[in-house]
Amino acid sequence: MIVFQILMLVLAALVAAVFALVSIPPLRCALLSRKIFKVYKSILPQMSETERDSLEAGTVWWEGELFRGNPDWCKLLAYPVPTMTAEEQSFMDNEVEQACALVQDWQVTTELNDMSPEAWGYIKERGFLGIIIPKKYGGLGFSAYAHSQIVTKLSTRCSAQSVSVMVPNSLGPAELLLHYGTEEQKSHYLPRLAKGLEIPAFALTSPWAGSDAASIPDSATVCKGLWQGKEVLGMRVTWDKRYITLAPICTILGLAFRLYDPDGLLGGKKDLGITCALVPKTTPGVELGRRHFPLNAMFLNGPTRGKDVFMPLHYIIGGKDMAGKGWRMLMECLAAGRSISLPSANSGMAQLTARAVGGYARVRNQFKMAVGRFEGVEEPLTRIGAYTYMMDSVRKMTAGAVDLGEKPSVASAIAKYHVTELGRKVVNDGMDVIGGKGICLGPSNFLGRAYQQIPIGITVEGANILTRSLILFGQGAIRCHPYVFREMQAAHNPDAAQGLKDFDDALFGHVFYTIRHGFRALWNGLTGSHFVFVPDNVAPETRRYYQQLTRFSAAFALSADVAMLVLGGELKRREKLSARLGDILSMMFLCSATLKRYESEGRQKDDAPLMHWAIWDTMYKAQTAFDGFLANFPNRFVGNMLRRIIFPLGHPYDVPSDRIGHQVARLMISPTVARNRLTAECYLPMHEHEPVGAIELALQATINAEPIDARIRAAEKEGVFANDPQANVRDIAHAAFSRGVISRDEYALLKRRNHLRDIVIHVDDFPFDFGFSRPNPLAANAAE
Ligand SMILES: Cc1cc2nc3c(=O)[nH]c(=O)nc-3n(C[C@H](O)[C@H](O)[C@H](O)COP(=O)(O)OP(=O)(O)OC[C@H]3O[C@@H](n4cnc5c(N)ncnc54)[C@H](O)[C@@H]3O)c2cc1C
Repeated sequence: MIVFQILMLVLAALVAAVFALVSIPPLRCALLSRKIFKVYKSILPQMSETERDSLEAGTVWWEGELFRGNPDWCKLLAYPVPTMTAEEQSFMDNEVEQACALVQDWQVTTELNDMSPEAWGYIKERGFLGIIIPKKYGGLGFSAYAHSQIVTKLSTRCSAQSVSVMVPNSLGPAELLLHYGTEEQKSHYLPRLAKGLEIPAFALTSPWAGSDAASIPDSATVCKGLWQGKEVLGMRVTWDKRYITLAPICTILGLAFRLYDPDGLLGGKKDLGITCALVPKTTPGVELGRRHFPLNAMFLNGPTRGKDVFMPLHYIIGGKDMAGKGWRMLMECLAAGRSISLPSANSGMAQLTARAVGGYARVRNQFKMAVGRFEGVEEPLTRIGAYTYMMDSVRKMTAGAVDLGEKPSVASAIAKYHVTELGRKVVNDGMDVIGGKGICLGPSNFLGRAYQQIPIGITVEGANILTRSLILFGQGAIRCHPYVFREMQAAHNPDAAQGLKDFDDALFGHVFYTIRHGFRALWNGLTGSHFVFVPDNVAPETRRYYQQLTRFSAAFALSADVAMLVLGGELKRREKLSARLGDILSMMFLCSATLKRYESEGRQKDDAPLMHWAIWDTMYKAQTAFDGFLANFPNRFVGNMLRRIIFPLGHPYDVPSDRIGHQVARLMISPTVARNRLTAECYLPMHEHEPVGAIELALQATINAEPIDARIRAAEKEGVFANDPQANVRDIAHAAFSRGVISRDEYALLKRRNHLRDIVIHVDDFPFDFGFSRPNPLAANAAE
């Protein structure tokens, strides 16, 4: 007993000593922080200027709350719901509708290899290329949300059109001019870009520098040269770029290159760094016009080259003062475009899939039943519905953030990565449900082109593997963490004394932060997170999700800190671990966006299955990502300890239930209000000769015919059609009418349904040469 009391006293003394030490900053600074600071500075990896620019660019938004372990749900619920003005809504209902009507995807992708001149003319004249350009420069000056809505709708119709609109409104000349252009550049180019009098392209990628774009070999040297008959100070630029969207037809080329000033003509550094210039196509030496062939997508994309092309310094965006600041400019502007372009394009494709495949699955019968009613088919239908709901939630929330003035660098990367990955799953599932109909290309195939082109979104604006492995957690850890960035900044502070003081503050804040989250994670694990505070104004059916998200957030914050502490700079090379942490952060973001949407749209009861399934699936994936991280943590003792803290009583989530999945699948194959909300941006031309329109009409006709079909099936069971060769899947309606099983009106209804069904299940066929053979001009010449 005495031994125990002595031990307790020693322990209490030790705790008191440590507490005294850490609560007296000068003491802890002298005894601890100084030494740690020295070691920290020696192991902190050197960071290039471009790396620093990438990390520092943009803002931290809701993802920061999730990262820091204790998300403030009131904040999420208070973010304004993005809406459109009357002018923006009218543009969606009229101009966007008309633009969609002007393009036929099959014609664009096989006959014209481009949009028609009429479609091009329309989007230029109506300002589609200047959605983000303010009104004072002649643009539409729309919100980020309206921009996203427009791209989403166009993407349900024709990729060539949506990409041709998306790219000029994303990271490129207009965006860069708006933020960094000189007044002269703005007033010259922006009105012309807004009206489509100039077509922009932006060229960064080179054959030798794709993902690692900061290493572009394209270079320029400051020198004197002749410009419009006069000798001026300029630069001689050499470049070789590929994959540049709109390059084949652009009139103004945004160009990124590294600028050198060996003779000190600008007075400063010799290697000025990456610089962005606007180069008119007419500049002598600019090579443009050839095309790549990106997976049958007919948006214009191709290479551009130039060798020793002389251009004046005023070609630099922002003028010569912005020489060398190109990378920072690009990184600062990246988040806005990335928040909108790919999330919108992929949400559009998902909406199209949900609408058309859901309808098709009710119209198409096999084994005397709509294929969408088979449990096996319900599974992909459920994923299509729930993922579309979630993708659109993320798209809307991230666009809303841009309208709030954010440039969310990590959230935009999460949105880009996950909406394109979910888009790929949705379209793949759609292809499985529609079987051969999706495989044989032709004017009546509504999904084959989307299936072909899905990998484009995965690759562009930061290829997905790299984004998951390096950006989501890597950039998140530095930007969202309350102390890591401060510690790094302290280490780089040229004022060593101030650096040490800042480091000491950050370090001890960091230590308490980690300990706090360790206790919170354990407590929430032991109590099943039942005691986590959730605001009263959330839907009761979602309350547990908020509690479990808070629990996961605390566990994530702890895991992130332990990983950084144990692995240090090594974590950057451990991409699989980093990717799994990125997955957890992302999954929490996707769930937050889904919950936000559910609240914003008034807790629609009919949509609840979509929301529930999406959240269960995503939380289960987050849990699996934790498992992957813990099972592979290199220090097994630490990994096991973490597991005991995070999941002390086992796992809270299973895969989503089949019952909810069934409810989702049912709403996908019926003309429900939930289906309408889910696919609200889908372009729906209601004509039989339009593949998606035909499905809509056939779906309604199918539903009207189902009670009659049921009667025919009952008669069939009674043997009414015994040995009647007409009683086959195609002709049984006629047989039923002939035998008086159904009335004339009912027969008419079935005939109408059969007519529409046959349009929907029709697959195109072509002459042997597909009708594409052209007389060979070389053969003709040889004959002469
Ligand atoms: C249709 C299309 C349009 C485009 N439009 C433009 C445009 O308008 N302007 C422009 O400048 N560029 C454009 N691009 C270029 C695009 O941004 C690049 O293709 C992209 O950055 C990837 O480069 P890459 O294709 O060379 O792949 P690579 O860099 O060769 O990468 C190959 C694979 O390795 C992965 N990877 C690379 N590094 C890492 C790492 N450290 N960790 C983990 N994985 C890694 C990548 O994720 C990818 O999966 C376009 C590309 C395409 C295909």
